[in-house]
Amino acid sequence: MLILLSDAFDPGLPEKLAKYGEVTDDKGRVADCEVVLIRSKTKVTKEYIDAAPNLKLVIRGGVGLDNVDLVYAKEKGIIVHNTAAASSIAVAELAFALMIAMPNHVTKGDASMKKGEWIKKQLKRTELYKKTLGILGMGRIGTEIGLRAKAFGMNVIAYDPFVHHHNVAEMKKDIKDVLPESDYISLNMPLTDDTKGIISKDTLAMCKDGAYIVNTGRGKCVVEEDVVAALESGKLAGYGNDVWYSDPPENSPLVNAPNVIAIPHIGASTKENLLRIGDIIDQLIGEYVNK
Ligand code: NAD
Repeated sequence: MLILLSDAFDPGLPEKLAKYGEVTDDKGRVADCEVVLIRSKTKVTKEYIDAAPNLKLVIRGGVGLDNVDLVYAKEKGIIVHNTAAASSIAVAELAFALMIAMPNHVTKGDASMKKGEWIKKQLKRTELYKKTLGILGMGRIGTEIGLRAKAFGMNVIAYDPFVHHHNVAEMKKDIKDVLPESDYISLNMPLTDDTKGIISKDTLAMCKDGAYIVNTGRGKCVVEEDVVAALESGKLAGYGNDVWYSDPPENSPLVNAPNVIAIPHIGASTKENLLRIGDIIDQLIGEYVNK
């Protein structure tokens, strides 16, 4: 059995998987591989699948499966798994890092010091304590973010069409009930036809003046130009972003918009998470081999 590591994983993974067969990172051997391991970079499109006639199992180290043509994979009898449970803490900690950095001017203060400036008087901070966090998508990551927000003394509300009661957040019936109440908004839903562009001119208009948005979900859940306009007008006080229309972004107007903290899609990239992902991949290949 040939296992192709098509994206970046823990360096110890090839050794861990050697018990199942040959492990390669040579993408030129895709035609011969039975198992492909991907993260977000490799796109398992119809063309990719057609170029891999021996492919039986795709494992996405991480959560989002929007880079896999699930319908065509199913048609071809290819099993697709993700490692959904592994990444929640890693992503929640990054979302929180962004949420703390913005009102504390961490990046602005740092950049100004390095330019030899002393802007102590200009940098007015605000606290998370007693502010309201609105979470859109109260799944695994949303829950971990909510737990951390509670520890900071925040009020946590959420909207999720499939979750009606939750012990961490007060669930609202509609996104329209969350946005006007939230000082911070965290995007944690998957990219679907329903969530694509969900943060747009219309929904931004419902937000509190001076709200902050943290997006560790998917770039395409927002209309970037509308977010930029809201930042330029001051409607949004800040936008902390890990996820883009493409990796890396091509000419995204968000990168240089005011009050943006831009991060290169590293939500899942903790050392601990890569180890957890490796353990789950080992287990999934073991189950596949022994089925
Ligand atoms: P999850 O499936 O546990 O939670 C997602 C939640 O979103 C679910 O509860 C679902 O019901 C809800 N949802 C679906 N449609 C919705 C809608 N229209 N409005 C509001 N909520 C909706 O997944 P998770 O592990 O919490 O991950 C969430 C997303 O985070 C993933 O789909 C992925 O896109 C993203 N993610 C990003 C990174 C990163 O590196 N930044 C890493 C992992 C996951």
